[in-house]
Amino acid sequence: MPEHNRMILVDSHAHLDLLKEPLAALQRARDAGVAQIVTIGIDLASSQKAAQFAADNEDIFFTVGLHPHDAAQADEAMWQAMARLAGQGAVAWGECGLDFYRDRSPRPAQREVFARQIELALRLQLPLVIHDREAHEETLAMLTEQDAGQVGGVVHCFSGDLNLAKRFLDLGFAIGIDGPITYPKNHTLWEVARGVPLNSIMLETDCPFLAPQARRGKPNEPAYLAYTCQGLAEILGLSPAQVAAATTANSRRVFGLPAGA
Ligand SMILES: [Zn+2]
Repeated sequence: MPEHNRMILVDSHAHLDLLKEPLAALQRARDAGVAQIVTIGIDLASSQKAAQFAADNEDIFFTVGLHPHDAAQADEAMWQAMARLAGQGAVAWGECGLDFYRDRSPRPAQREVFARQIELALRLQLPLVIHDREAHEETLAMLTEQDAGQVGGVVHCFSGDLNLAKRFLDLGFAIGIDGPITYPKNHTLWEVARGVPLNSIMLETDCPFLAPQARRGKPNEPAYLAYTCQGLAEILGLSPAQVAAATTANSRRVFGLPAGA
């Protein structure tokens, strides 16, 4: 593990309900300097589990949302249950968005449920956690059209180029950087990291997915955020402590997390 003397990290995007042994992983995260974790809903059941993690642990926060993969499942009762749950202390709405890479739900259904969720986030005044996979222009267009900059949020696991990143920044969104920043020759993402202001970057694991290079092929977990922090620091020519301090402040600002620990 990279050394983390007095480093305080926030994992701003985890799927704790998908980890095999979440309680053991949480302990390792705390030992690795991860002071707060935002665990993400991808459907009603996982949003409920996320809310339960948050109820049981004061360093865990939750979101509510429907992933584009499951867009075809949406119905009115589900939206009502989700909105009610979000009103009970969610720090953001999402992840939601468009995935034209896997296309697991038909695109018209993806668009409809994304529009609905932008509307809900605006009504509840919650920042958005955006999933955008090979749907950059349409994601930007929908966020712009519905004036989502009023609540802002983060483009989770950003996968575009620097020009696209700047357009999301202009709209009021932060850029989520994950384990792939540590992969060899990931030049486009390195250029994004160097080209956007540090105060617009949030670190995330997306665990159990996207383990950083040092743990690649294994299930990811919040403790491994330290590797991503170190990788980003190397690319920026900063110390891991500087990157940790800045990205922690960013995640706390965007999600309104308390500045404890
Ligand atoms: Zn995710």
